[in-house]
Amino acid sequence: MTAIESIAATLAAAREAAVVSHIIPDGDCLGSTLALALALRQRGAKVVAVNADPVPEMFHFLPGQETIIPPARVTEVPGLLVMVDSTDMERAGEGFSRWRQKTGTVINIDHHVSNTRFGDLNLVDGRAAATAELVFAILEKMPVTITPDIATCLYTALATDTGSFQYENCTAATMRLAARLMELGADLPRIREYLWERKPLAGIRLLAAALPTLTLAYDGRIAWMTVSGTALEATGARPEDAEGLVNYPRSIAGVEVGLLFRELPGGQVKVSLRSKKSVDVNAIAARFGGGGHRRAAGCTVKGDLDAVVAMVVAAAGEELNDGRFH
Ligand code: 5GP
Ligand code: MN
Repeated sequence: MTAIESIAATLAAAREAAVVSHIIPDGDCLGSTLALALALRQRGAKVVAVNADPVPEMFHFLPGQETIIPPARVTEVPGLLVMVDSTDMERAGEGFSRWRQKTGTVINIDHHVSNTRFGDLNLVDGRAAATAELVFAILEKMPVTITPDIATCLYTALATDTGSFQYENCTAATMRLAARLMELGADLPRIREYLWERKPLAGIRLLAAALPTLTLAYDGRIAWMTVSGTALEATGARPEDAEGLVNYPRSIAGVEVGLLFRELPGGQVKVSLRSKKSVDVNAIAARFGGGGHRRAAGCTVKGDLDAVVAMVVAAAGEELNDGRFH
């Protein structure tokens, strides 16, 4: 049996399950979580959908999102734990790996190359543009109907993780699946509206506050912007409004690595890393305890904003120079 088949068989037989994903949830993590939760509920299973952080407003149209609860509200951990889009169990929040002892079987479905293969059953494929591609492959092998609601969740995951089908991770298979999901009834008008046409004004003001911080180094091959706690407060923006800002430094001609530094409460800085052609940003993030993909990765680093900028830019510079000789 392939990994897809054994996971499909385990899920089809499940009477109860928790579907869990990473903190600061994005479209793939939420879309994959909800598609699985909806499919399992269709089979009559008792399912809790779990995320440590609130669902960002731009995803409030996703069917079933209102059922997502934080781990602390789960009184009895089910015997089956399905983790999606998460490199390791701690990605679901600090201390979450304690659930390993409380549950029975752990299924790990992910497309991050840095995944630690922590599950009893693992489906990890770095070639998938989104975890949702793997979820679809599993659902196809299960006795479930891929409803318009499930298609909406999966399409949202593909659209967000590929930056509207523009990044290098978007393959012919991704496009074919997107077409399939449209045919299965994905609600494109709502997806378009919520994802791209309903930005909060405060988010645009945050962009205005971030742009003056734009800095280039290493002959214009590394570019970054910063979002201080004060900027966040002054604009009234929410942390999730900083998503996507990293694309501005990356999009500049000649830039290979784009970075965004966002100050978090408690003396930490969230770093988003993106590259275009040669630099493996997963390797840079890994130096600071983070991870992700070759072209998109992230990490959270202790220290003040300026110190973290200096450290991470220096590390990116080293990778850049390495890349030149390969
Ligand atoms: P973003 O910069 O949009 O937060 O994340 C980019 C990619 O890196 C996503 O695939 C995300 O899951 C991954 N990523 C972001 N932060 C972390 C982190 O702290 N640890 C790990 N392992 N992956 C991360
Ligand atoms: Mn993903």
